[in-house]
Amino acid sequence: MTIRGQSFKLEEEPLRCKIIHGNTCQSRNLLRIIGIENVLRLNILLNIVPRNRLASIINYPYPINEYTRFIHYSYKEKTEKLPEDIREVRNLIQSVNLQTNATHIIASIDWGIEAIIIIRLSSNNNIVTQIDKILKKVESILKGASELTTLNSDDARFLGENTTIIVYSNISYLNGMTSMNDICQFINKRNEVYKVFRPLEYTLKPIELFNPQYNRLDSPIIQLESTYNEKLEEYLLKYLDKLKDLKYSLDYEVTKMLNGYLGEQLCQLQQQWVYLKNLYENDIKQLKHLINDVCYGRGDISIIDKTISPEKQNDFDDKFNKVTKNLNDLKEKGKLIRNLKEKKIQYCNVVEYGIDQIDNKITIEQKLVFDNEENRILYSNDHLIKINTKQFHTLLDNLCEQRRKHSEICLIYADFSYSSFELKDMMIVPSKRHSDENKKSMKEETLSSTSNIINILLLGETGVGKSTFINAFANYLTFNTLEKAQTSQPMVLMPVSFVTTVGDNFEEHTVKFGDVDSLNNEVFDRPGQSVTQRCKSYVFNLNDSDRKKLRIIDTPGFGDTRGIEQDDRNMEHILEYLSNFTHLNAICFLLKPNSSRLNIFFRSCLTQLFSLLDRNALNNIIFCFTSARSTFYTPGDTAPLVKKMLNSLSIGDVPFKKENTFCFDNESFRYLVALQNGIKFNDDEKHEYEMSWSTSVTQSKRLIDYIRKNVVVYHIEGNLQSMKYVQFEIIHMIRPILETMRNYLRNLILRTQDSVNVSLELYPKVISFPATICISCVPYSLLVGQFWIAKIIPHKIQNNHCTCECSLDQHISIDYKLEYKLSKKSFKYNQDKISDMLRELCHA
Ligand SMILES: [Zn+2]
Ligand SMILES: [Zn+2]
Repeated sequence: MTIRGQSFKLEEEPLRCKIIHGNTCQSRNLLRIIGIENVLRLNILLNIVPRNRLASIINYPYPINEYTRFIHYSYKEKTEKLPEDIREVRNLIQSVNLQTNATHIIASIDWGIEAIIIIRLSSNNNIVTQIDKILKKVESILKGASELTTLNSDDARFLGENTTIIVYSNISYLNGMTSMNDICQFINKRNEVYKVFRPLEYTLKPIELFNPQYNRLDSPIIQLESTYNEKLEEYLLKYLDKLKDLKYSLDYEVTKMLNGYLGEQLCQLQQQWVYLKNLYENDIKQLKHLINDVCYGRGDISIIDKTISPEKQNDFDDKFNKVTKNLNDLKEKGKLIRNLKEKKIQYCNVVEYGIDQIDNKITIEQKLVFDNEENRILYSNDHLIKINTKQFHTLLDNLCEQRRKHSEICLIYADFSYSSFELKDMMIVPSKRHSDENKKSMKEETLSSTSNIINILLLGETGVGKSTFINAFANYLTFNTLEKAQTSQPMVLMPVSFVTTVGDNFEEHTVKFGDVDSLNNEVFDRPGQSVTQRCKSYVFNLNDSDRKKLRIIDTPGFGDTRGIEQDDRNMEHILEYLSNFTHLNAICFLLKPNSSRLNIFFRSCLTQLFSLLDRNALNNIIFCFTSARSTFYTPGDTAPLVKKMLNSLSIGDVPFKKENTFCFDNESFRYLVALQNGIKFNDDEKHEYEMSWSTSVTQSKRLIDYIRKNVVVYHIEGNLQSMKYVQFEIIHMIRPILETMRNYLRNLILRTQDSVNVSLELYPKVISFPATICISCVPYSLLVGQFWIAKIIPHKIQNNHCTCECSLDQHISIDYKLEYKLSKKSFKYNQDKISDMLRELCHA
């Protein structure tokens, strides 16, 4: 509308300024503070009226309490009004086209400045008293009652150090300000900069008043009673406040208390908060429709009653309480971690060490390898602490006592609360690092690159027995005879279970490897599903003169029950994992002898592998056959099938000869495990297994010899020129580039606000669990300084399902998350430089 009225100088007192204390009932309703009347308040809460300018005060993110102060400032400069004479107005209206649904006409506009300055104080009562005195001075400065136009530097500094200031105003320039002196200065110069004034208030009049013939197309016939307005407002404010309180607690208190620990649990809570927020927003949408229906006579008011009924609210409250409980639990954990820290006990969440239900006492100890030579680890969980607090404290004292005697030992608290491993009792476990040179230690290692490591990539169909093979192979290389293995502690790389048949009646027994004591849990791998879903590396020392290490790169088995697409996805993962290594010594295909057919994926697996590696790697291929005792240690019927397949390949000649073929027998290893499980065998069986053990030992040694003497090491680094590799590299760069650009843009915005001398810094953090981001979910909003950041909450996918209910193809896997920090320094580059860098990145 472009109708302009005349402007009038005001007669009433134009300037108002007052301080409101955060614990008054007035302060609870932010919209009421700024004098918004009932119906409009409800419309803002219901998102019918946009929350911009002053109304955005409803988004104030912090809780309001005794440590909150408001300064409400308003200055009315002039009023513009429509002419008093109604005929004049009618003429004006008829001159413009009025094809509109408008119900009212703006009759007058007040121009001026209005601002609510919200000051959050630190919760120290001495400071509060002092701040209140300073705020009184601010009040008189803003009123023009003081001779000063700004605070003195001491007061300004004290205020800056002990408060957080957020301004909501009709003047957008004020909205970015964080320093009280900047605000005072700006407001006191209001008359020098005439243009700063913006509309303050509009007075509306019904359109019929000016144009009785004007027929509204569609107009509400019923007005909601004011008691309803109040009820709805109360309902909406109640949950809005609850959401804010939870979020504050989550973003500031809990995050600080956990100090970087339990990132996964924190993410889960943030996700739960998003869920509550969605519920609330859906409620708003629904109410908006219902109210509309009622006002237009299409619905009954009882439906609104139902939506905000006590039953509904109880249900809502329950959901909020659950999240609050989880939040409080995490706060408790934060306190525990702090307590432990004071006692110099390191906290460790065992989930981050990959401990789950299939683990047992030995594998747990192997996984919990810390740097120190000697550790004392206390195993416990929240439940055990709760039912036996006294024991827990006794054990803690016990730990500290032990360190008093031996100052070199390191104390660790291993928290099993979040692991699927069921811990039955609290206990202290002494753990020694496997530093004994004669005893080979075996553990999962992070990717490291030394030429002293023999890398073997192990590929094979699901069910071929890769896990057992890895365990068996390690033991064959360690113990020359079965007898030696029996009298020593066999090496457990990963727990496996299998069924073995004994005696003339073929009795079936399930045996578990690694199941050495009561710590163990029942659940093992389900048949048909590969135990290994992601690649893992296992490194151990070869007991030879030049101290080489052997790394077996275990991969997801192909022939996945989820189909060929899953196989392709697994292969993609294998290639990506592989591209991180410096070199490969052997590519080992694990097969069973006497197969009647080969898995169709075998072929595709080879082709895809050689889309990453070049032909030189063909000579590094070896074939291993398991369970070959039945075929007298030959590949049996599988050989012609493999030959035929290899001949049909276009990738080049794959050698398949006696030299690069090795036949093992997993049975002798299974026999060892069965013996340890207390299963009896007769002498014939015993003799046979002893023989097959020594054959397997010979084969294992021949394999290592072959790799060391007959094969040229394939260097991955610098040899991955293929499109595939470029793809991986590009995919890895996308997110960092985009995140960097996004942060440049944020800093550019901060730059343009002259009053703000701060910048945002990115802190990437590696995520310790397999995480994804959901591109459908609304991001989590986090206020960093003055900046709302759309923060990504990592989602964890379990059993092909995400708690966010969005489909899996909406999820992209990530390996780091970002934290944001506000730096008191301004961004190190100037505006032009930032623009330049952005342009460069856009063309990268
Ligand atoms: Zn989602
Ligand atoms: Zn999700």
